[in-house]
Order: sequence, then C-alpha cells, then structure tokens
Amino acid sequence: MNQSVDPGDTVVDATVGNGHDTVYLAKLVGPSGHVYGFDIQKTAIEHTQQALQAERLDHQVTLTHAGHETVAQVLPEATTVKCAIFNLGYLPGGDKTIITKPTTTLAAIQALEARLATNGVIILLVYAGHPGGDKEAQAVLDHMTQLDQHQFQVLQYGFINQVHTPPYLLAIQKR
Ligand code: SAH
Repeated sequence: MNQSVDPGDTVVDATVGNGHDTVYLAKLVGPSGHVYGFDIQKTAIEHTQQALQAERLDHQVTLTHAGHETVAQVLPEATTVKCAIFNLGYLPGGDKTIITKPTTTLAAIQALEARLATNGVIILLVYAGHPGGDKEAQAVLDHMTQLDQHQFQVLQYGFINQVHTPPYLLAIQKR
C-alpha cells in the first residue's frame, strides 16, 4: 500500500472492520487525499469514525454504512482510485456469520477495476477457511485468472508451509 499510495490520492477501504487500514490509509493520502470506507456493520463504522476523529483524520475520510458493492454510487464521478483494499471473511472477535460474499465482492471488484488509475492496485486478503470462504475465494480467483493481461497484472502471494487454510493475498494492478 505505502508503495503505491501518495499524498493526494483517492483510495478505498472496502471492508473497514476494526478500522486499522482506514486510519493507515488516511495518513498515507493526507489532507489533500481521500479515503472511502465501507462496512455493513454499524459498529465497525462508528468505532472507526471515533478512531479517525481522535487522530483528526475524519476530514479526509468518508465512511459509508453500506456494502462495498455500492462503491460506484458513492465515489464522485470521474474519480480514479489509486488503491483499494479488501479484507475478506468475518471480523475477528465479531459475529462470524457476517461474512463477505461472492456476488457482492465481485461486484465491488469489477466496479473498482473500471475506476483504477494507471498503476493503481486492488489488494485482497482472501480467507478460504471459514464456511462460505472457499466459495468466495474460488469466485474471486475465477474472475481474476480471466482478466486481460494487457490491461491488468494479477499476482498471488501466500504461505506455502502453513497448516489449516492460511489467508493469501491477491493484487490486481492496472497497466
Ligand atoms: N478476515 C479478516 C477480517 C475481515 S473483516 C481478518 O481475520 O483479519 C470483514 C469486514 O467486512 C467485516 O467488518 C464485515 O462487516 C465487512 N463486510 C461484509 N460484507 C461486506 C460488504 N458487502 N461490504 C462492505 N463490508 C462488508
């Protein structure tokens, strides 16, 4: 993230959750940039809003209490996105039945692909170990393996010696 995000950039935190990434991104883009954050859980939005206010970062962040699949409606028209991050699965310590889902995750990814700046990246941390996670991971992989290599570079990065189902990272960069 810190390699591709500069002050003044527009970035998206597609799964705000505990808000750590939102705060981190707000610092990277600075007061001239903007972070758009999404979460379907009200408590995630409220806690993150408080954390941002405590660090006086709230002016450079717009939090939306709705799914990331609404990103195209929320982002101002003609805005290009330098970086979008998805932390898939459920929120640790929260309700484990509230998970990201294949249809809405894909809708958001596709909407963001259309808005990505040249060299901009979409980063996904993919969790396949919980119920429903494998289906989502497969849907995301199916989509990404089919992306035109002249338009996007897609990379996968992950542990190859861990037991259970460790998360892995997917990154889509626009050429
Ligand atoms: N698995 C990660 C954390 C994922 S948090 C880890 O272990 O660190 C995922 C967050 O996405 C949750 O806060 C959840 O409420 C949120 N979420 C679920 N569906 C969503 C959607 N359609 N749009 C935006 N956020 C969503």
